[in-house]
Amino acid sequence: MELADRMARLGTESAFEVLAQALELERRGREIVHLEIGEPDFETPEHIKAAAKRALDEGQTHYGPPAGLPELREAIAEHVAGTRGIPVAPDEVVVTPGAKPIMFFAILALVGRGDEVILPDPGFPIYESVVNFAGGVPIPIPLLEERGFGFDLEELERRVSRKTKLIIVNSPHNPTGGVLDPDDLGRIAETARHYRVPVLSDEIYRDFLYEGAFASIAAFPGMSELTILLDGFSKSYAMTGWRLGYGVMPRALAEAVTRLMVNSASCTATFVQRAGIAALRGDQAPVRGMVEEFRRRRDLIVEGLGKLPGVSCPRPRGAFYAFPNVTALRHPSREIARHLLNEAGVALLWGSAFGRYGEGYLRLSYASSEVNLRRALAQMAPVLARVAR
Ligand code: PLP
Repeated sequence: MELADRMARLGTESAFEVLAQALELERRGREIVHLEIGEPDFETPEHIKAAAKRALDEGQTHYGPPAGLPELREAIAEHVAGTRGIPVAPDEVVVTPGAKPIMFFAILALVGRGDEVILPDPGFPIYESVVNFAGGVPIPIPLLEERGFGFDLEELERRVSRKTKLIIVNSPHNPTGGVLDPDDLGRIAETARHYRVPVLSDEIYRDFLYEGAFASIAAFPGMSELTILLDGFSKSYAMTGWRLGYGVMPRALAEAVTRLMVNSASCTATFVQRAGIAALRGDQAPVRGMVEEFRRRRDLIVEGLGKLPGVSCPRPRGAFYAFPNVTALRHPSREIARHLLNEAGVALLWGSAFGRYGEGYLRLSYASSEVNLRRALAQMAPVLARVAR
């Protein structure tokens, strides 16, 4: 079969490719430490599972409204209003199977051929992939270690123009663990308002913040009508496999995104949405407990990585990724990642999988047990010493 031209423009997420390679090695009898995929190793809290089981027993097994169950949209509106300090109406909320479709749908709805989209580099690879798929032009803004992996605001102001149709920000950030300070968010908001450009604010790691208070660009003056806020349940409630996420956006865009839902998934599984209501309305202690555990693991991995040959590791302020600098090893990061998978049995990602400015770094997810993290560090040391020679 001949694929349509547009398929040549669609990229991928290397985490899933490396996971497949690692699973193949395991199938052949190798033991692998998995630090490649970004998902909490915690179980979904019991009260959330119980709500899904109850919903199944009550027959919640049918189609639901494409934008989501009204009770869940209300719960999300209250949750987002409370956590971001902004008014949110339920009809500004669209529920999707995971948060990723919000990216896909918002970009398809807003970006046409030749339209420019400003996005972080390094950054979540799906942003660039979908912009290309939509016929748009990605404009990468470097996030540099010496600036704490914040947006290069001068570069942003140089690159934004009337051709810009969307600015994407992600804080706390995958893959660097960087967090955008309120001052930086304020300047991005000012630029967005000046050019009337919408901002897709990917806040999926909001709960995983180890220093300071969370700030959302949606809360800056005039930004509620320009922000598409993306969040979900995958990370905060350890629900990656359930596929439940949402976007909060101006009504006209919510209608367009809902139309994209009608044309694709129809709706998000109804019993899964009932679990989402239990997650938002129930006890938040499991979320706090998980974040505290991740803070300990962050300290362990940052300290351990810093002692490895040719590696220095900035301390991430949020999310659950370490982004160690391996430029001193003077090898392409992809090659180093390959050595570490094949010789150390440690699956992780190379920085350039997240964009040109990610070269010289590796990405490790520390959402894995302390035992695994210690094993990974011990197994990486001799392999990196060989690469360094
Ligand atoms: N945004 C970022 C930055 C992510 O890293 C991820 C998942 O890895 C997502 C969004 C998507 O999350 P979900 O599992 O809800 O689709």
